[in-house]
Amino acid sequence: MTILDGKALAAKIKEQTLETTKALAAEGKRQPCLAVVLVGEDPASQIYVRNKHNDCITTGIKSLMHTLPADTQEEELLALIDRLNGDDGVDGILVQLPLPKHLNEQRVTERISALKDVDAFSAYNVGLITLGRGGFKPCTPAGIMRLLEEYGIDPKGKECVVVGRSNIVGKPMALLLLAAGGTVTVCHTKTADLAFHTRRADIIVAAAGKADLINGDMVKEGAVIVDVGMNRKDGKLCGDVDFESCAPKASYITPVPGGVGPMTRAMLLDNTLTAYRLSSEK
Ligand code: NAP
Repeated sequence: MTILDGKALAAKIKEQTLETTKALAAEGKRQPCLAVVLVGEDPASQIYVRNKHNDCITTGIKSLMHTLPADTQEEELLALIDRLNGDDGVDGILVQLPLPKHLNEQRVTERISALKDVDAFSAYNVGLITLGRGGFKPCTPAGIMRLLEEYGIDPKGKECVVVGRSNIVGKPMALLLLAAGGTVTVCHTKTADLAFHTRRADIIVAAAGKADLINGDMVKEGAVIVDVGMNRKDGKLCGDVDFESCAPKASYITPVPGGVGPMTRAMLLDNTLTAYRLSSEK
């Protein structure tokens, strides 16, 4: 069994990002820039935003933080996004979700220019991925694809089972595996017999947000197991996969923490550099 070390690969991607930004600086080019908008004081969101800011700073990407009060009106937020859309010095725009209840997340994310949508949550980017026509890829599924690639795991011809059908993880994950030639099954809470599907999977991506949902009896020998889940059990961070019982049967498995999480963060930097290139080509 081999650990899919997302932490190590993310560190490598960060180093490469820093090299890229250094090279741009040496050529006298503008610094790539990510604008992050946080509305309100949700403690988890504050941590995520701080991490993103620190990732940018350490890799030579300019980080613009916009922190707005929880009672910000939608018109105000949309006006800020419009300003950032029109600012040639801003490459990527990210609005941290969830937003306070009175704000319409769909309207807000749709307002971000498709060329700056580094989270890839807009209908336009999702459409491009669905059609296999490029575009930004959402950070978590993109990070998983990069991790599989790093370890020489090719989904082509493989039975791939994705557990979870959310718009930010499950659905785009299924689309990326499909584009890579996998035979994809997507499971969810209405799936009649989850174990029936996971047992025949060559690659399992668990993204349900339920601790210990997948145990050793539910996976076949040699399966590749990717655990997206971030749950709390007895105060400790854990995934959706019972590592103890699954690891002995797996050929490859991600740990939690240290697997998918760091890759998600690294892909945001990657998408910001892509946005920078798109902006330079305008
Ligand atoms: P979500 O929006 O709550 O979606 C969860 C999905 O899992 C839903 O489609 C749900 O089915 C399905 N599901 C829940 N319980 C299930 C069960 N018992 N059997 C089968 N399917 C089940 O969550 P999300 O945003 O996709 O995130 C999923 C997990 O990944 C969470 O723990 C989240 O914290 C974590 N996450 C981690 C990262 C990272 O970077 N590591 C990034 C994003 C998310 P229905 O559609 O039928 O309700």
